[in-house]
Amino acid sequence: MDVNHLIADIHAKLPSLNTGKVADYIPELGKVSPDKFGVHAMTIDGRAFSFGDAQEGFSIQSIAKVLTLTMAYQRLGHDLWKRVDVEPSGTPFNSLIQLESDRGIPRNPMMNAGALVVCDVLLDYLANPKADLLEFVQSLSCDVTIGYNETVAASERAHSDRNRALVEFMRSFGNIKNGTDSILDFYCSLCALEMNCAQLSNTFLFLANKGFSPICRKQIITGNMTKRINAIMQLCGLYDEAGEFAFRVGLPGKSGVGGGIVAVLPGDYAIAVWSPPLNRKGNSHFGMAFLEQFTTRVGGSIF
Ligand code: GLN
Repeated sequence: MDVNHLIADIHAKLPSLNTGKVADYIPELGKVSPDKFGVHAMTIDGRAFSFGDAQEGFSIQSIAKVLTLTMAYQRLGHDLWKRVDVEPSGTPFNSLIQLESDRGIPRNPMMNAGALVVCDVLLDYLANPKADLLEFVQSLSCDVTIGYNETVAASERAHSDRNRALVEFMRSFGNIKNGTDSILDFYCSLCALEMNCAQLSNTFLFLANKGFSPICRKQIITGNMTKRINAIMQLCGLYDEAGEFAFRVGLPGKSGVGGGIVAVLPGDYAIAVWSPPLNRKGNSHFGMAFLEQFTTRVGGSIF
């Protein structure tokens, strides 16, 4: 099958690109052109397929939560699940609502509350959290050009009232240890990691390969831990649209409000797609439509 041709054909047949809305609650994200569209797929045996703006960097936002989760899981092991649960929430990514009845334990590490707890955990373990995360991502992708977009990070820091509320609320239940400003500072940086589709698919390839990265040739986590992270992505990676994503795409995936989605087919490939306009659930409208067509026409999904 000519996958490059298939990707171009799916793109050509997507309905017009004026559906959805680019995120602007973080003002800096609102400046990105809605017409951008990139795809990059990388297989575990080294084949790459690319289309459109696949080499242009964008703000990966919540996609980074999978990478910090991996780092925290490496360090804390099973004890991590005492601080954050592994259940789908069925609520928007920034929801506070279940935290009260769940007594400050977030439903999962993919929603903001859970990712903020993961940041709190990492602050206890990492000497230089931002530098250490960047080094981890650069080693996974074998690419030292990856960095933080400081303008985006500053923009989110200036508009983080809701995330601050999440941290303080969880602190009231004893599930936060570090200072709120240092947690938010780290969180806003990881969301502001800037990567392109090629770098993203390379970075996530270890999740398609039982925890061994074919890019940096290192075992990042065990096969069992990989199974668990993929399960979390499948059930929680697209928040209250995780069911729809499983139904239409059928792969573990993670979205970000920058318009990126990464998905993996274990034993086969990682794919990243970028299209900034978001649907009502905060996920890339055309990213989902593209991936639905891709897995349908290639005939590969975990189901
Ligand atoms: N930085 C964003 C926020 O906290 C991440 C959300 C997302 O990508 N879904 O609101």
